[in-house]
Parts: sequence; structure tokens; C-alpha cells
Amino acid sequence: MNAKSVEKEKELTTVQTQKVELADAHCHLDLIKDHSLVLQAVNGGVLTIVTDGIDILTSRVAVKIAAVDEHVFAAIGIDPENALKMEISHARNNLLHAAKELGDMVGANRGNIVAIGEIGLDYMKAKSEAEKEKQRKVFNAMIELALELNLPVSVHSRGAMEEVLETLRSRSVKRAHLHFFEGNLQQAKEAERLGYMISIPPLSSAKRAEVIKDIAIDRLMVESDSPVVGESPLSVRKAVEMVAEAKRISVERAAEQLVANTKRFFNIQPKRSFMRM
Ligand SMILES: [Zn+2]
Repeated sequence: MNAKSVEKEKELTTVQTQKVELADAHCHLDLIKDHSLVLQAVNGGVLTIVTDGIDILTSRVAVKIAAVDEHVFAAIGIDPENALKMEISHARNNLLHAAKELGDMVGANRGNIVAIGEIGLDYMKAKSEAEKEKQRKVFNAMIELALELNLPVSVHSRGAMEEVLETLRSRSVKRAHLHFFEGNLQQAKEAERLGYMISIPPLSSAKRAEVIKDIAIDRLMVESDSPVVGESPLSVRKAVEMVAEAKRISVERAAEQLVANTKRFFNIQPKRSFMRM
């Protein structure tokens, strides 16, 4: 074992044994079939978990999970893939309907719903200009909703970072979480300038390390994006280690800062109904 892997091993042991508090800024708990994985994550220190819906149905599920688990908070919205399934015409417009339904969900579940997400643009999924246009319409309607409700947005972007940043900027969005940040350093700098949060998934790459290194630590969050990327919210450990390594700080310090950022960004408050007497 070389010095670096010994160091790595030591860090891993610290996180595992001392139960450093962690926060997962983006995952899909509705897709995790084995609930014991979520319990393991909470036991492993992930005390704040934001689970995202991708359409009306999964948004409802996210809200239900948040209602019964004091560690879980929901983001609700229509993602770019599901945006393609919407009908948006004069004769039939189910986007208006969907936005109203999401707004009603927030009204009935304040405290458990902390963002509109995930929403955004995915130009790997949208092939034609007509499909892109549909995604733009839904993205804009979701931004509108977030602004009306005074909630932050959790944004997905694939092949569309320039346009996502431009859309958020032109709509004067102040609080945006760039989930699974895919942009380059210049785009990360622009996001930082706009006051947005850059989210690090548990996948290391040289480009990602460069972004982490050059962006102020208070602009960073970590996410598992489980079960799509990580196995469970506990996978944020790896992303925390990546931040610690790129910033040359301890895992504990990185974790502490990242948890604080997540709670600040989503305005996460302890849930009253779960408070102990
Ligand atoms: Zn996601």
C-alpha cells in the first residue's frame, strides 16, 4: 500500500466509525426498493436527505416519504424526460394542470417540500427542435412555480449547461442547485458568480476535481443521485471524500461545511412533528 492509499483508508475508517454527519442533496428514494438501505444511510450519518420527484406521481411519493421520515425532505417537479410526455397545445394543456397540482402539494406540505426539482433541460433526450421547445416550456413553467412559491430549484442539465444558466439568469432565479454538475470550469465560475450551488455526485473525474478545487466551498453540495448513480444516500461519502481531497481539508471539515451548505440552501428546519419532548 502506498502512502496515498493508506491515507485514503484512514479517511474511510474515520467516516465509517465516527459517524460524521452527512447530507444528500439529491436522490430518488422512490426507486430504492430495499428500504433497509435508507435506514443504513441514516445510521451511517446521512441525517438530511432530499429526494426528488420527476413527474406528478413520483413527486407525490416523495412527499409521502418526507411525511413519515424526519430525515427526508422532498423536491417536486417535472423533469426534462417527463416533460416530453406532456401535452402542451391550445386544445389540451396538461402543463397548467400539473403546475397547479404541484403548487397545491406545496401548500399542503410546507416544511416537507424544500425545492422545485428535478427540473431542467436534457438535450441527450430531446432530439428535435420541437422536443427541445417542449422541455423549455416545462422548465420555464417550473421556474415560474418556484418563484411564486419562493422555493429554490434543483436543476438537471445534460448537454444544455449554457442554456440552463442563461435561462436561470434571465428569470432572475436567485437560488438554484445544479444537480450532478456537468459543466466546465468556466460555467462553474459563472454559476458561482450567480450565487448558485454546484452539486458533486460520487463519481470522480479530473474535470470534476478541477471544478471542486476552484469553486468556493460554500457553493458546493454533495449528492448520491441514488439509486441511479450511487447505491443509496450513503454513497455521498465518496463525494465528500472527493471534496476533501480536492480542497486539501479533512473529511470531517468537508462534511461539516457541506451539511451546513445543504441546510442553508434548502432552508431545512427540524420537523416539528418529530421533535422530542
Ligand atoms: Zn435525479
